[in-house]
Amino acid sequence: MDLEGVLRRFFVFLSEQRGLKERVTRNGWLRRTARRFVAGETWEEACAVAARLNAQGVAATLNLLGERTTRAEEARAAAAAYRELLSEIRRRQLRADIAVKVTQLGLDLSRELVEESLREICAHAQHLGGFVWIDMEASRYVEPTLSLYRSLRASGSGPEVVGVALQAYLYRSEQDLEDLLRLGARVRLVKGAYAESPAVAYPRKAEVDGAYVRLMERLLQEGHEPAIATHDERILAHALRFAKAHGILPDRFEFQMLYGVRRDLQAWVVREGHRLRVYVPYGPDWFPYFMRRLGERPANVAFLLRSLVREGWVPEGFGRCSGVE
Ligand code: FAD
Repeated sequence: MDLEGVLRRFFVFLSEQRGLKERVTRNGWLRRTARRFVAGETWEEACAVAARLNAQGVAATLNLLGERTTRAEEARAAAAAYRELLSEIRRRQLRADIAVKVTQLGLDLSRELVEESLREICAHAQHLGGFVWIDMEASRYVEPTLSLYRSLRASGSGPEVVGVALQAYLYRSEQDLEDLLRLGARVRLVKGAYAESPAVAYPRKAEVDGAYVRLMERLLQEGHEPAIATHDERILAHALRFAKAHGILPDRFEFQMLYGVRRDLQAWVVREGHRLRVYVPYGPDWFPYFMRRLGERPANVAFLLRSLVREGWVPEGFGRCSGVE
């Protein structure tokens, strides 16, 4: 495994340490540093970021941070918060949708609980003209997530109400994509953010990128309003060339990126007249998400060090090693 792979695994490991999370989320410095990737702790802050993005011609996806919930009350509270968020998006006339995680809605506790919550959230979204993305989590949750997606569709939530993320690094995604295409699903294609075994996922970055391009071409040709979610410039350029060569109009797909990542590329996409949506996470439970973002790029460790220098925790000179954007 290359250095990037090791780093990523290390940060994903940290993201899963509940004890560490409890201890560090109250740390002021880390909280401030996480703000690079997280809109804030409240829905008001997230809506303010969405409004700013909208003013720049960018749509938003709002996500209340939280995953692997262990108490039913917490799972129900998250579902209620999402319903209120949908109402607030509508009330403020924001160009924004929402993203949920099935483990945040209680998948580790009860599938029935998640199904009921998802149905209520989707019914509310349908009523308000909103949209719900279901994020994809670690590989052991993929089958139940897709099964929940199918059952939502069977119960009447159409592709204009609910969509699902698919991770290119998983071997199974090729087949999953074909199944989703048959359902006319709206799919958000991502590379995948968890530390997976080579038994289920491509271990090398070049292989993941290759799989992403294959799946993306299928999606661009056959997908229903697909979301190409990546900050990979080469893949973006490939998507644009492929779309042009196949007569796929720019309004048939959208690019998606993460809040705080490659803002230069985000601005370029908008300048060039392409559709862009930015995923805006918020909430007090930011630790696992922040750790995954740090692990995605070695330069982010330098970013962390620079922030420590600013706070006077580490001697000057330590964080001056790289081109963090
Ligand atoms: P990479 O090859 O990792 O990165 C390409 C370039 O982008 C890098 O060279 C760097 O310049 C820049 N970059 C990438 N990440 C960072 C970062 N953290 N900080 C600074 N620069 C960076 N994953 C899931 O597993 N499930 C999901 O549901 C999911 N939803 C997502 C939704 C959206 C809208 C996006 C954009 C990503 C989502 N992800 C999800 C994360 C995704 O799987 C990747 O981990 C992440 O996008 C990094 O991969 P990349 O495609 O940008 O390519």
